Amino acid sequence: MNEGERLTELAKRRGFYFPSASAYGGASGFWTYGPQGAALKSNVEDAWRDRYVVKEGHQEISAPTVMPEPVFEASGHLDGFDDMIIECGECGATHRADHVVEDNTDVEEAESLPNEEVMDLIAEHGIECPSCGASLAGEPVENFNLMFETNIGPGSSSPGYLRPETAQGIFVEFPQLSEYARNQLPFGVAQIGKAYRNEISPRKSLVRVREFTQAELEHFVDPEEDEPPLAEVADVTLPLYSAESQQADDGGQRDLTVREAVDEGVVASDWVAYYLGVSKRWYERIGVDMDRFRYRQHLAGERAHYASDCWDAESEVDGDWIEITGFAYRGDYDLSKHAEHSGEDFTVFKQYDEPITVERATVDPDMSYLGPEFGGDAQRVADALEALAERDPSAFDADEVTVEIDGEDYAVPVEQTNFSVDEVTESGEHVRPHVVEPSFGVGRIIYTVLAHAYETDEVDGEERTYLSLPPEQAPTTVGVFPLMDKDGMDDLAREIAGDLRSAGLSVTYDDSGAIGRRYRRQDEVGTPYCVTVDYEALEDDTVTVRERDTTEQKRLPVDGLAETLEQLNTGELTFDDL
Ligand code: AMP
Repeated sequence: MNEGERLTELAKRRGFYFPSASAYGGASGFWTYGPQGAALKSNVEDAWRDRYVVKEGHQEISAPTVMPEPVFEASGHLDGFDDMIIECGECGATHRADHVVEDNTDVEEAESLPNEEVMDLIAEHGIECPSCGASLAGEPVENFNLMFETNIGPGSSSPGYLRPETAQGIFVEFPQLSEYARNQLPFGVAQIGKAYRNEISPRKSLVRVREFTQAELEHFVDPEEDEPPLAEVADVTLPLYSAESQQADDGGQRDLTVREAVDEGVVASDWVAYYLGVSKRWYERIGVDMDRFRYRQHLAGERAHYASDCWDAESEVDGDWIEITGFAYRGDYDLSKHAEHSGEDFTVFKQYDEPITVERATVDPDMSYLGPEFGGDAQRVADALEALAERDPSAFDADEVTVEIDGEDYAVPVEQTNFSVDEVTESGEHVRPHVVEPSFGVGRIIYTVLAHAYETDEVDGEERTYLSLPPEQAPTTVGVFPLMDKDGMDDLAREIAGDLRSAGLSVTYDDSGAIGRRYRRQDEVGTPYCVTVDYEALEDDTVTVRERDTTEQKRLPVDGLAETLEQLNTGELTFDDL
């Protein structure tokens, strides 16, 4: 079994996650988190909320998972959110064309290539259908939109889509959200919630699924003025695998501090660099192995339609690198698109300290001239003249001014435009914020954390499997066991379990089987501490506390046990300190 298979086996057996609806044959790409997995997931989400909402001073919202079609027309998902597919002419199975190329050639990131080139590579390398072995050469490579479509209400007049990312739920509400932020940039809005993508070939359990949880932050900033608090992360070392290194023959990963990465221009955006620094520390906190972690820059052709610079956090499992988070500088793409499509105002009004007097060029075109001259295009010509006056008043210096609309030139005598330059007093200006977005996939992070925590060793001559999870992330903090289910040990153990639960700790009570078995069960789900009530406990009110990774045991008084375990859980104390 490879690392991923071992993990999936443990995950099913111990209740982390398993394929859903298997009683009915299931549906590929859908997983249920069992009791351990749901607890781990909520711990990861809490740690994310703590770092990206609370510590950053941002706000969290919760938007619907279904949204009407115009939202995705504006966002570009309806037209551009595609993967390339190829269908086997022999068995009819559909595959991701870029994946079959990557699996059978040295080509990396085939996703960034045009469809024709992928078709050529398939023919050139004689690539066969992964399902039946027939040749795929000559089969067309086509685009497949990944959104799940539905109808809102009866009938089909109101199509809707399950959101393919949580982000759009934030962007469409920008006018309200900016009001709540009192129109003061910068401000950040976060969301943790489900996203849906009709993936062509779900694979590797939680890694490529059709329903997953994202934790996304949209940080709205004034591109002219706002700067990130880089000093806070300047010394954090980033393992960077730049686009340039990926394309160079001898290129590899470079370790640069955030400061160096910015000064050398390796990371183009200071904001992206800031979040790479913050996130490196966060991944470390939740248990990602930093020797199996890197930041990889997107190649030009791989970047999403909206992003100007983009880096992925990647973790290594089974020798494969998995994208666990995307960091994108989205510019004003999303807000501009929603403004254009909805006609609403997606700017903030920035008040000046003092009103200022400026010269403004304006036009007031004579429609009784434009109408007969340009017919149905007259209004568009008038709008274009207005935009041109704002952008380049010198264009009105000659006798005639020309505007271009959809590739066609329209010439207008300047005297018909009523062009003038006036002094006006302005109290502020409308600013369209830029957006910096860290977008985390919670499932892939859970998969990584579990794979990186998976350890085996030998205890008392027997092989043991344990999950070396940071205590804060572990689904259960303490296992409480009576050594035997009699003589009052059970009563004391139950009382202790109750007290620990009242103190807010997550506790499992287990009185079945040999004590060694009970330890193993907790080791396998990553419980960092086990408390055992033995005969001595009945005499002197002390219990043994065992630490998971070392299996070392210490005797501690029952009095104050909850506080001690709480401090161990938060990291205020280490087991060695006891
Ligand atoms: P993207 O918008 O494609 O950059 O995705 C943002 C994040 O969502 C990625 O970094 C992944 O962690 C996660 N993600 C995207 N697609 C999937 C999927 N099919 N299954 C699980 N996680 C995903």
